[in-house]
Amino acid sequence: MLETLTYINSDFPIFATVMVFVFGAIVGSFLNVCIYRIPKDLSIVRPGSSCACGSAIAWYHNIPIFSWCLLRGRSTCCREWFSIRYPLVEFLTASLFAYAWWVHSPIVAIIGMLYLSFLICSTFIDLDHMIIPDRFSIGGMILGVFISFFFPILHGIQTTGLASSLNSALIAISGALVGSGLVYWIAVLGEVLLRKPAMGEGDVKFVGFIGAFCGWQGAVFAMFGGALIGSILLLPLIMFGRIIHRNKKASQTSSESMNDQALAFGAQVPFGPMLAVAALIYFLGFNNAVDTYLKNASDVFCSSLPLIH
Ligand SMILES: [Zn+2]
Repeated sequence: MLETLTYINSDFPIFATVMVFVFGAIVGSFLNVCIYRIPKDLSIVRPGSSCACGSAIAWYHNIPIFSWCLLRGRSTCCREWFSIRYPLVEFLTASLFAYAWWVHSPIVAIIGMLYLSFLICSTFIDLDHMIIPDRFSIGGMILGVFISFFFPILHGIQTTGLASSLNSALIAISGALVGSGLVYWIAVLGEVLLRKPAMGEGDVKFVGFIGAFCGWQGAVFAMFGGALIGSILLLPLIMFGRIIHRNKKASQTSSESMNDQALAFGAQVPFGPMLAVAALIYFLGFNNAVDTYLKNASDVFCSSLPLIH
């Protein structure tokens, strides 16, 4: 089957990419269901999709991306609005799958689709509920180790056989341990310095999952890249909050609630989505650059320590 895929991919690259995009849109539609139902402990298989009024949605009104655009975001039964996030998640999944297909070999791209699906679900659940369910973080971590054992190519190991498999599984396990350990100690340090919880337990396990699929380099990049993305996004927000705060004081209004809200918004931003974006950037093209950089950095570090040589 893999040979067929490789054959189709090399002879009809555009056709293959379009098919992967369509497949991604269908998966994205399923991810929407997971994002909505998993935090509520509902089954992701039954019942089928339904409108807020309770009517079932016909399959031809449930075609990823298309149906939403065709119906202009409203249901046919009661004209209820559907969030634009549904087609956006479908489009995002489709584009990321197509891009993964484009930059990786078929087998790594297929594993990558699973990895991307976990990242997308975790991101949107974290945005909605400020949690990352264990089935994505811990479940993903275990899955990553298993997949690494059976497909050493995920970690760039070209050979097959038991030695390669064990080596690959070890890379995944060490990635999970280094990733979660690093985030854990940064969280402890952050709590000491800021005197409030900097990161949740969910983030610790989530970076463990990233490490299992991307190795320790990917986990380290997710942590620091995520922090960088977070600061770029949050700085304007915090400054905006300060400006509101100052205006409030100047105008001497008594309602403190809006100001409190602005501050609370700054303090309660989920870190998971930022970790996920960095993990995405690593997997979809930055991996070689990051690995080379980290290797050079550790070489320079080691050569400056004469005792180790
Ligand atoms: Zn309805």
